[in-house]
Amino acid sequence: MNAKDISKVKFVGSLGSSPASVNRVNGVMLVNKNWFNSLPKEQRYFILLHEKGHVVCNTSNEFKADDWAFKEYASQGYSLKDAILALVNNLKFIDRKRGKYSALGKEQKNRVLMQIIRCKIYDYKILGNENYKDWYNKNFTN
Ligand SMILES: [Zn+2]
Repeated sequence: MNAKDISKVKFVGSLGSSPASVNRVNGVMLVNKNWFNSLPKEQRYFILLHEKGHVVCNTSNEFKADDWAFKEYASQGYSLKDAILALVNNLKFIDRKRGKYSALGKEQKNRVLMQIIRCKIYDYKILGNENYKDWYNKNFTN
């Protein structure tokens, strides 16, 4: 039996290369406090939603967790740019205080690309930004 929601959030000093993680069995989320305190509010929020997405969807799949998080995040009117930066700035986080990052791997690059695509679709379909109309019709209609 897995948790249905986040049961507890614990702030910890180090999580290796990760800004946050969650245990889907008990719903306990661990947050790297050094990282957390140095981020803009909206990026923090996206990452917490991503962890919640793992629990709510009961999945270890990063894309599914991002997808769930994005729907929650965007529907509350938060910045689409920060939804992208939440991934760009925090995947492969090593030591934010010292400004150390390593290159993104293939899955991480794909997560960033998917996030950009989610944002463009949302911007056009929900927010009515006509700048993405041609791009959308070219790629998503027959
Ligand atoms: Zn994840």
